[in-house]
Amino acid sequence: MNLTPNYEDDSVNKPFSAQGHCLCNATSFKANVVSTEIGVCHCNMCRTWSGGPYIGLDCGVDVSFDGEVTQFDSSDWAERGFCQRCGTHLYYKFKSTGQYIMPAGLFADDAGLLMDHQIFIDEKPNYYEFANATKNLTGAEVIEQFASLAPES
Ligand SMILES: [Zn+2]
Ligand SMILES: [Zn+2]
Repeated sequence: MNLTPNYEDDSVNKPFSAQGHCLCNATSFKANVVSTEIGVCHCNMCRTWSGGPYIGLDCGVDVSFDGEVTQFDSSDWAERGFCQRCGTHLYYKFKSTGQYIMPAGLFADDAGLLMDHQIFIDEKPNYYEFANATKNLTGAEVIEQFASLAPES
């Protein structure tokens, strides 16, 4: 595990590289460019998959896996991966960019991580609420932002 957050300037949280594994150790991963900014998704799909909100880290495209990964085609725009043996959630992956969003819980050294934003805040159930000060976006706002980033119409 190699985590090197920048404590001098907290407005610039440097990406780090990390290795980790699932609960049963059948699957391991290496992520070379991991953001320190946590995003939380409250959407119905993420909560069905995770049993709660999806607390994820943007890991870019430079990620490799070794072991028994099963991939589920969860929507037109994304796939979700998990360990075939123990079911540990490994990633949410955008089909268009190959970008991985991986669960923060997979990263053993969490000292430099900060909760930055929450999305699909309008689908969050009432029985929990994070006290963290974050940027919050509704599902419609996320889809609008995603559409504006897409190269094709
Ligand atoms: Zn496993
Ligand atoms: Zn979601």
